[in-house]
Amino acid sequence: MLLYGMTFRIRCGAGFTFVILAALATACAEIATLPAGSESFVPPPEYQLWWSMTEACSGLRGSLADVDWYVVPNTAYIPGNSRELGGEWYEQGNRIIVASGDQFDGSLVRHEMLHALTRANHTRLQFLERCGGVVVCVDACIKDSGPPPTPPAGTPHVSPGHIDVDVDIEPAAPGGGEFGGYFTIVVTAHNPAAHAVVVDLLPSDDDGPSETFTFSVRSGSQSSGYSDRAYDAEVTYFGPGETKRDVFDLHLAGDPAHGGLAAGTYTANGAYGAHGSAPKTFTLSQ
Ligand SMILES: [Zn+2]
Repeated sequence: MLLYGMTFRIRCGAGFTFVILAALATACAEIATLPAGSESFVPPPEYQLWWSMTEACSGLRGSLADVDWYVVPNTAYIPGNSRELGGEWYEQGNRIIVASGDQFDGSLVRHEMLHALTRANHTRLQFLERCGGVVVCVDACIKDSGPPPTPPAGTPHVSPGHIDVDVDIEPAAPGGGEFGGYFTIVVTAHNPAAHAVVVDLLPSDDDGPSETFTFSVRSGSQSSGYSDRAYDAEVTYFGPGETKRDVFDLHLAGDPAHGGLAAGTYTANGAYGAHGSAPKTFTLSQ
């Protein structure tokens, strides 16, 4: 859910002349070295849920066991990198390194998983279209992905009320010892028209982009919620019959400020541009 921490691909190229190969070999040896303090870890059960979600959105298949995982303890960012990365995929060795502050941030971990599945840098097709809302993609990820498509002249502009909004819980019966207690609230926005539309979102009440997808869950006095923003314009441009979605990660127990919820029965609501879904009730089991 945290919206920082992009990655880039580390490539050790081939096909250079002999003269620069020597220098390249040195550079590759250096960048292949893990950050100081990195510790290997076995992916916890929720990583299998997140891997399956990334496979599903990308249309690609791979084995989670083929990825080697490392964490840098006691840090929000991977040290030694000016881009303030929370995670990083190393093509060499198919390694993923995460800062401890993001080790259980589903959208960031799925972002790194998408690198491992595509074995490629950020592309608009995978990071903002197929897996948009499933993996975090802001800042450098958006820049790498190139400009959003331009709607054809005459594409109607509509209010969010013209979009069908729904909310779902996946897995449908969360908790119960499955996936380490992690689950997701999935908010979908569907254009029912047989033609493309651009949705005009209300401006935000701060300096940031407009709010797009929102979720909230409530049980008595306990509640949690979050609003995503239109960091990339394509989130407002719907093709005929297109469905977009945004995924919010929650889990049993833990810090409520980081998606932790007590066991209980909750009502979930979703919205796109303040146009709300019908509520949905679910039970989070111990
Ligand atoms: Zn990345």
